[in-house]
Amino acid sequence: MCGIVGYIGKNNPKEILINSLKHLEYRGYDSSGIALKNKSDIQVIKSVGKINSLEEKLNNTELINSNMGIAHTRWATHGKVTVDNAHPHSTSHITLVHNGIIENANDIKNNLLTEYSFKSETDTEVIAALLNKFYEEEKDIYKALEKMISIVKGSYALAILVDNLDKIYAVRKNSPLIIGIGKNEYFIASDISAIIDYTNKYILLGEEEIGEIGFNDLVVYKDGNVCKKEIKTADLIKEDVSKGNYEHFMLKEIMEESSVFRKTLDKYISDFNNLIDLSNYEEIHIVACGSAMYAGMVGKNLLEEECSIKVDVECASEYRYKKVFYDRKTLVILISQSGETADTIAALRKAKSNGADTLGIVNVKTSSIAREVDYNLFIEAGVEVAVATTKAYLLQVLALSFLAIKSKYKVLSEELKEELRNIPSLLEEVLNRKEEYKKIANSIYQSEDVFFIGRKMDYAICMEGSLKLKEVAYIHSEAYQAGELKHGTISLIEDGMVVVAIITEEDIKDKTISNIIEVKTRGAKVILVTNDGSLPKYDFNIVVPKINKLFQSMLVVPVLQLIAYYTALLRDCDIDKPKNLAKSVTVE
Ligand code: GLU
Repeated sequence: MCGIVGYIGKNNPKEILINSLKHLEYRGYDSSGIALKNKSDIQVIKSVGKINSLEEKLNNTELINSNMGIAHTRWATHGKVTVDNAHPHSTSHITLVHNGIIENANDIKNNLLTEYSFKSETDTEVIAALLNKFYEEEKDIYKALEKMISIVKGSYALAILVDNLDKIYAVRKNSPLIIGIGKNEYFIASDISAIIDYTNKYILLGEEEIGEIGFNDLVVYKDGNVCKKEIKTADLIKEDVSKGNYEHFMLKEIMEESSVFRKTLDKYISDFNNLIDLSNYEEIHIVACGSAMYAGMVGKNLLEEECSIKVDVECASEYRYKKVFYDRKTLVILISQSGETADTIAALRKAKSNGADTLGIVNVKTSSIAREVDYNLFIEAGVEVAVATTKAYLLQVLALSFLAIKSKYKVLSEELKEELRNIPSLLEEVLNRKEEYKKIANSIYQSEDVFFIGRKMDYAICMEGSLKLKEVAYIHSEAYQAGELKHGTISLIEDGMVVVAIITEEDIKDKTISNIIEVKTRGAKVILVTNDGSLPKYDFNIVVPKINKLFQSMLVVPVLQLIAYYTALLRDCDIDKPKNLAKSVTVE
């Protein structure tokens, strides 16, 4: 969600900033802008829509010679998608870009109204105006920034230009920001993938730290003192953020599932002894958002059914505000691909302040969640660029399956290892049956509504399948516990309506079949995805290999991901960047 980049150095800032912004496009945005600076001038250019339209504007404008600049992709939270609301925002001395939300923006704005006239509806301009006022009063940018930090509430990552200073300033709170280190040049980015074409060396800016970035030096301050920062090396390579031979990142990432599965598996097998045993807890809360929550639902099913451990799955945006009981020995598991999901971070902090132990399942090792939890179980998905998660979801399920194995068996038997090592090739087999999925896509892409039905674990799978279709193909779809449909919603089933049924669980197989008959009788077109080749034939049957229940969902969900992908392709959707969506939801 939204992106920041900055550059100071000997090269052309415009080229570098635009190229870097393009690497952040996947995060979702609605407008963009750039500010270029030299000793005497700052030039700001903004545009709504895709970065290409900003680029076009830049090409049609006489640009100043610059040696530093900042740029932004905005995902509007305060104020409509307009050029005025796009970032950067400028006041007489300050020009800045902002990721996040300022919670007390209204109060601050009201106090400034007599001395400043606002040009936009954003909370961001409020910070620019406040900082400008403090800078005029203090004549010292640190003092001004520290004053601002003490007043402003909410989340922010800021890259700031000051009219008479030859530096860029970076500040953050509850929103990530890094400073990339090149040869006599520095970069600022909200995500390392933005600047990976130029450097893989970077420092992480800490909460409320102030980074002062000059042409030849970088100093980070906190509470008036210089901080020692560790220079990190990203294990990312340029190819990780390119589509390769694929038409879309989503397809590339689905096709990577077997290799990232193998990589994560090897790590979990060798670290098995250090894995946390959940049977030491009386209760588990799994807290996450979107697909990560649906991965959690698969985990709940495994932990309850296989390990008899009580598990509650909650969406983070509710968990953070609802009454939660921590009266038993509780472990809270937070799942987030980016590790920066704002609601999940808030849920984590709530759990910690109530004395619960916390475990993070995240992909980004330097993220806020990874840093704040008591224990980490990282997934090795590599960079996931498509907004709709695929490979990261799968590995979140793998992580939960391993927790179930550890809690159930305590040791990893050779037999189980063998079974696990067999999965990537089965997964490849499933992924390669594209023609079957294309046929299904062809038969459903004109539908207005799709229902997914299943019971227990199969229901958790349905939730993810349904979400994928909504996200990338913009088809209204609902996931239902198969037995629940007839308690109301079956009234919607009519001739030709698509119902995707999932059956992988032996004990409820016959029950779900009865529910399929109920919808079939009312004219539904049924697509069955199952691990049982002996089941009756419907309009389409996809049979995946039958494996241990602990891992079975990981052979089914990729089928649904590919059906969603090919359906979206036929509907001509913007598959990697679906409308209104953002990759990591860093605002509440
Ligand atoms: N709250 C700011 C705005 O609406 C920043 C949004 C973003 O993070 O892109 O402009």
